[in-house]
Amino acid sequence: MAYTNSLAHAQDLDSKDPLRAFRSEFHFPQHDGRDVIYFTGNSLGLQPRAVAAAIQQELGDWATFGVEGHFHAKHPWYSYHEELTANTARVVGALPEEVVVMNQLTSNLHFLLVSFYRPKGKRVKILTEQRPFPSDTYAFASQIEFHGLDPEQCLVEVQPRVGEHILRPEDIIAKIHELGDELALVCFGGVNFLTGQAFDIKGISATAHQVGAFAGFDLAHGAGNLQLKLHDDGPDFACWCSYKYLNSGPGGVAGAFVHQRHLGTDLPRFAGWWGHDKYERFKMERAFKPMPTAEAWQVSNAPVLPMAVHRVALEQFGRAGMDRLRAKSIQLTGYLRWIIEGISAAQGGILNIITPADPAQSGAQLSILVNGDGRGIFDRLAARGVVCDWREPDVLRMAPVPMYNSFEDVWRFGEILAECTKG
Ligand SMILES: *Cc1c(COP(=O)(O)O)cnc(C)c1O
Repeated sequence: MAYTNSLAHAQDLDSKDPLRAFRSEFHFPQHDGRDVIYFTGNSLGLQPRAVAAAIQQELGDWATFGVEGHFHAKHPWYSYHEELTANTARVVGALPEEVVVMNQLTSNLHFLLVSFYRPKGKRVKILTEQRPFPSDTYAFASQIEFHGLDPEQCLVEVQPRVGEHILRPEDIIAKIHELGDELALVCFGGVNFLTGQAFDIKGISATAHQVGAFAGFDLAHGAGNLQLKLHDDGPDFACWCSYKYLNSGPGGVAGAFVHQRHLGTDLPRFAGWWGHDKYERFKMERAFKPMPTAEAWQVSNAPVLPMAVHRVALEQFGRAGMDRLRAKSIQLTGYLRWIIEGISAAQGGILNIITPADPAQSGAQLSILVNGDGRGIFDRLAARGVVCDWREPDVLRMAPVPMYNSFEDVWRFGEILAECTKG
């Protein structure tokens, strides 16, 4: 689409945005009496205004009913997680029985690795992307050690070519074939947290399966950002957090996906009572009888207060629809990219966007390598009411979020960035 660097153009795009009303459903931090330009929804999404009432409802029901709230609360706690299933399935493109909201992200990754990292004979390796989020590296390495193996040997990262920053899709596929029968698991981020590169879930999963490995994805930066089709794309498992694009609050409850083909099978797992058949859970019998759904991976009863937040946030996604969010996101991030490239060109190319421009390989986030005083630029942006993110030594990350950011935000950001890069 053709963009123009003017307030009128930005406001015209906003007036045509079918999702523009969602902005008023969020609390924006303030700077000098107006909303900040909040481009950090990839790190902590903003608070939906409806959250306070949802938590208050549970506190009220707890005060009123005590233990009876498990069945008599407005949203009965016994089955609370079930109220989140339909919208979760929609957000990640899964069947309802394939998803469950539980625990937190790294915990879910561990529980899923128990089932899907089963090293045997020479098939011992985990393949991941260059520089995954550190928590994922710790999880992979500790699981490898748990099996008595050496992470130095067993944890392999696909590296970019010399002088390049992102991974070429064909190099990922080639690496899977190269490792072949040494590969137990391919586990990638849906979107790399540092570069903003999105990976081909379908292609990576199919290739992993061709060589006899499982495929899993950490969708911390994918859920609520990309239009995912987990069921059709066929990975074996996935997990994600809810506090980034899914706006469910710091440390919010997380999600997990297990593909239909694994439900009701005898995959090993670490079990707990909330994974037991819900109709017989209170018989408290000795033998574990797993739920026939992804709920079999639940260990504990649901944390209702964070789930109340997540329920409200997911309902917004249900109303907005990932298809509309993604369509806006491509336009919104496209506008930001175009504005940044214009500013950079006018100033000798100081800003190099490393995130791929192809919408099949990127989401809302742009990662920018700054040639020069990046930290200074970041500090000047912050002083002017722009909330984005700086990763040492030289990466500026920002993500306009289609749920609540506007084209005017992007235009205003451009005006400020132009001043902040003049030094
Ligand atoms: C944000 C993020 C995490 C954080 O893990 P928690 O268990 O939620 O603290 C882990 N992995 C990735 C890829 C992330 O982006």
